[in-house]
Amino acid sequence: MSSISAASVERVKEAADVVEIISAYTDLKRSGVRFTGLCPFHDERTPSFSVNAQDKLYHCFGCGVGGDVIKFVEEKEGLAFPDAVEALAERYGVELEREAEDPRAEAQRRERARLAELLERTASFYSTFLNDAPQASKARDYLSGRGLNEQALRDFGVGCAPGTWDTVLVRGQQAGYSVEEIEAAGLVLKSQKGRGHYDRFRSRIVFPIRDARGRMQGFGARALQPDQKPKYVNSPEGALYSKRRTLYGIERARPSIVKSGRALVVEGYTDVIACHQAQITDAVAVMGTAITPEQVKLLGAYAEEAVLALDADRAGREAMLRAEMVGGKRLRLRVARMPEGKDPADLLAGGDGASATAFRKAIEEAVDLPVFHARTLLDDGDLNSPSGRDRALDEVVEVIAAMPDSITREELMREVGERLDADPGLVARRIAAAGRGVAAAGRRGDHQAAVPAAPDHGSRPPAGADYMADPGPETAQAAVAPRVLSAREGRELGLLGMCVRLSAEGSEVLERLTDEHFSSPTAAKARLWLRDHLEEPLSGLPREDEDLVAYVTEVVMRSEREPASPHAIELSELELELGRVNDQLSAVAANGGDPPVELQRERAKLTERIARATS
Ligand SMILES: [Zn+2]
Repeated sequence: MSSISAASVERVKEAADVVEIISAYTDLKRSGVRFTGLCPFHDERTPSFSVNAQDKLYHCFGCGVGGDVIKFVEEKEGLAFPDAVEALAERYGVELEREAEDPRAEAQRRERARLAELLERTASFYSTFLNDAPQASKARDYLSGRGLNEQALRDFGVGCAPGTWDTVLVRGQQAGYSVEEIEAAGLVLKSQKGRGHYDRFRSRIVFPIRDARGRMQGFGARALQPDQKPKYVNSPEGALYSKRRTLYGIERARPSIVKSGRALVVEGYTDVIACHQAQITDAVAVMGTAITPEQVKLLGAYAEEAVLALDADRAGREAMLRAEMVGGKRLRLRVARMPEGKDPADLLAGGDGASATAFRKAIEEAVDLPVFHARTLLDDGDLNSPSGRDRALDEVVEVIAAMPDSITREELMREVGERLDADPGLVARRIAAAGRGVAAAGRRGDHQAAVPAAPDHGSRPPAGADYMADPGPETAQAAVAPRVLSAREGRELGLLGMCVRLSAEGSEVLERLTDEHFSSPTAAKARLWLRDHLEEPLSGLPREDEDLVAYVTEVVMRSEREPASPHAIELSELELELGRVNDQLSAVAANGGDPPVELQRERAKLTERIARATS
């Protein structure tokens, strides 16, 4: 029997809206990057159930259940794994690939990690070149001319690619990479005559592009010479880089975005850096003038609202209106009216105090996207003739009708009436009439979006389309007892979480620890798993081992919400070591033996070190 390919399972996970699915069982409230609510698996009064919308994970800190979105469907719908994947695939319109076995997945993952490391090396080479090479003086002049200071450039790892044809190629080969790998990383191109390869980025300022977790994905590169075409070159779409999914600066902006619930979306690399330099640390850039559905979704995992500070020219406005079409249900989009012909970098880093103030004010005064849309329609309409005003009214009522009831909506209706010189009653009646149409269209739209391909079934909803709408009787998940963690269990979880968060320190600690440091077989197994899968702890977990899946999920969720520091890691490691020694002493005592002096001495030493570390 054929099985669903691992890539398909990943695609299903990516497409599934975990918050939407779980919301059918319990009310979820956003809190930072997570959503919380009452646990749908055990009876409780205060919420200890937590959902991570980005990684599609859930975990209950009360009863300990947890897993990914597929696991949730398995549990709640009582489906086997392949059936749960199929149900989700159908619901979110993902086509499944099947294959007999997938032994390549592991190799692919390893190869991706190698490519990311090559990009990391190259980024650091470019950055050194920008800082030190005499040939990079032009790049340095350009960047300082834009008002960007050295610290900000270093924070973002901005670099410069030399003008030579093979520096990166040769360096990559010297570091042990094959030409094919260097090409796959997007760093070199095959020459047209088919003889050899040459560096993709030459004489350019390069901006390393990372994902939200800080992993290298590729580069954006800007021309240094005025006659150099094209002005911008990006890494090619490939194993690591996807333009539609990329938000430049997300790895640095994420903490601020999660904290404030707001993201500022700008257009260019230097705009992002200028914003951060000016302490506007929630800024990210879209790769171009339009924000994509993927980017909206990504931001929706962290933020409640996104303020678009994109170019105010015609193309920019259209891009923003397209964003409305893709606007996620949970992400409120607002538009900041930018002074024409100026970008954030001009205003913040290049400008004076007044222009920086003007920029901040524009962000504060950003209007909801529908208001922006309506005003654009009025601005563009011919309001001098009655027929022109009729046309504008037709267009504007559609926009207003789709808005939820609110003061903003009321005010916009008044504004429209005034600008069109129309009776408020007429505007209200037209909006009410359009509203009925919009509601019907919206329902149709939702349905089509959720279940894209079922043309031959007429009006019959495809199987599974509504399979989650009704939670049904509370069956299998009757009574799960709330779980109480011992102090030691808590420390073990905490330490593993910190190892995930600070993987550089973590990998060493995980290497040093042994099964004897842990109080349960599951925790010991999790240590082993994390040691070998620290970069992607959630990928490829053996699903049949439910305890391990739940445990690792909890570790990852803790790693996101709890602070970590090398010092705290060190302290926890000492405490686990003490736990191990105490276990040995108890074992000796249980056998009626005398406690060995060595162990006692070790215990005393550890106790002292812990006391010193905590003082
Ligand atoms: Zn629970």
